[in-house]
Amino acid sequence: MAFPVGCVEAVKLAGFLFIDKNSNWIIFDSMKELKQWRQTTLMKIRNLAAVSLLTAILACVFCSPVWLGAQTVTLKLVETTDVHGTVFPYDFINDRDGRGSLAQVTTYLKQERNKDGQQVLLLDAGDFLQGQPVVYYYNFEKTDVSHLYARVMNYMKYDAAAVGNHDIETGHAVYDKFAGELDFPWLAANAVRTGAEAGESYFKPYTVVEKSGVKIAILGMITPGIPMWLPAQIWSGMEYLDMVETARKWVPIIQQKEQPDLLVGLFHSGVDENYGGATAETPRNENASRLVAEKVPGFDIVFVGHDHQQWNFTVNNADGKQVLVLGASAHARNVAVATVTLERDSLTRTWRKTVTGESVDVSRFEPDSIFMSTFSSDFDQVKAYVGRPIGIFTEAISTQEAMFGESRFVDLIHQIQLQLTDADLSVAAPLSFDATLEKGPVYVRDMFNLYKFENLLYTMRLTGREVKGYLEHSYEGWFHQMTGADDHLLNFSRDQAGELIWSDRSRSYQLAVPMFNYDCMAGLKYTVDVSKPAGERVAISSMADGTPFRLDATYKVAVNSYRGNGGGGHLTQGAGIAKSELPDRVISSTEKDLRYYMMKWIEKRETVTPTTFGNWQVVPQDWWQAASRRDFELLYGGDRTTTN
Ligand SMILES: [Zn+2]
Repeated sequence: MAFPVGCVEAVKLAGFLFIDKNSNWIIFDSMKELKQWRQTTLMKIRNLAAVSLLTAILACVFCSPVWLGAQTVTLKLVETTDVHGTVFPYDFINDRDGRGSLAQVTTYLKQERNKDGQQVLLLDAGDFLQGQPVVYYYNFEKTDVSHLYARVMNYMKYDAAAVGNHDIETGHAVYDKFAGELDFPWLAANAVRTGAEAGESYFKPYTVVEKSGVKIAILGMITPGIPMWLPAQIWSGMEYLDMVETARKWVPIIQQKEQPDLLVGLFHSGVDENYGGATAETPRNENASRLVAEKVPGFDIVFVGHDHQQWNFTVNNADGKQVLVLGASAHARNVAVATVTLERDSLTRTWRKTVTGESVDVSRFEPDSIFMSTFSSDFDQVKAYVGRPIGIFTEAISTQEAMFGESRFVDLIHQIQLQLTDADLSVAAPLSFDATLEKGPVYVRDMFNLYKFENLLYTMRLTGREVKGYLEHSYEGWFHQMTGADDHLLNFSRDQAGELIWSDRSRSYQLAVPMFNYDCMAGLKYTVDVSKPAGERVAISSMADGTPFRLDATYKVAVNSYRGNGGGGHLTQGAGIAKSELPDRVISSTEKDLRYYMMKWIEKRETVTPTTFGNWQVVPQDWWQAASRRDFELLYGGDRTTTN
């Protein structure tokens, strides 16, 4: 007896299956019966396929429980995120071994892919094209070959990736080329085109991957905060929509069109929707991953990124179903892993799913030797590139000094910015928490410590009054209002009991505002009185050359593009300029990133003597001295071997 049934995996286990050219499945009780049938009847296929519906139903009802109970699929979904170019177990910036790398992730993947009875999906949540000089080199220096990072991702067999803000930061030429070099989809449903194709996704919105008969749909999104940080020409032709609204649009489309067994979110966006003073109601919230998991029913798992933190928790969505929220930290030191077990429910023909999450420390794995040899010539090229000497520093400079007041580190940036532009004033901040450039020869790699990000340099128009507001905003975030010499100088984060909060990630106490927002100004003489409340601390006495500073005059200010687009709120909340007005204030912009010009500037001079301008001070001076010594211990006194 033979009859068609509808459960192919199960049938394979229990009988002899034949699938005809019309995809009808025919099962035989014995091999003999199958052979006889094949010999005699190619013509009978149609008749057999037309076996009565009743027989088909009986077949399923009688046989399913035995066959289908055996059908269990285990999936491991592995997420990397915010890898920032950490391909190799080597820190090209600081010329030393690194802790994590894709070479080590590859070893872990091999182990998991070799295990019987499970399937592995590999996902990335964005921000890989900025960070280590490996990616800078293939973004901007060696562009006539396929990008190393694309080759690496293809080699590792990623199934999907989301686009990150730092990937967009590289500019159209880089990310448009890169998108075409990937063997898998690069996703960002909420990055949509403007103009003629308005509303169409610029990248792909989602993808569907099938493993062991299980359909997995992956919806990708990017943080919509990009216009706050990046110049408009970098993302021209695109806008970034609210993540919750975008998910509300796409989840029903995916469910209807694809009917996936598992729906996964892959978001380059953080978990804390309240970050930076935002709320759950803020439109286009920068960190909306948890909000989407909660508010938009349908997801089984949401993978997050952007905030460089490890996450593993569940939320209940609007339908009362549990959604796992998972995130790896940065620089390929760990991966976030979701293990999904699916059992086929024969009656409803759906899968019963159990989902668990874990974080796997990748630093304990050896780099995969085949990976290393495959990409060894890329490694050698980048090492030669970063090892090129460009000049000599007569003094060491460090961002540690820059956290407490005037510093040679930031004043060198000011000096270069003022000479690159014809600005009257310059604003700059330490972009790294703990970066030192030693006295002696300076190499290309040191430029990544001097200037961490690929910002452009703008010259903007600001009134004296706006300059004052700008500085008040910066020092409000930077310094605490001191009550005496034994109080803290820095504005540390505090818990509800008022205690400082230790961060295992930075091995230090947490600061309320990140140091890349600690702007000071060159071209002016001023003091910052930390005994006074925020907004009343900055007293400007004159321009640096002693000529009067006037609140109603207009000044040309050198400012990086992150700040010039509103990043940190210095120009918007501080100077009080509407976000929409900022582009009109830009007089000029560099074409390449600031680090490029800094490198040229040092190369031209050969020998650089870093110095301070002596143009601003924190008062009362004795409070400042006592407090900066103490706070220095809190920031840098611990084990500093693991900071970024
Ligand atoms: Zn990142």
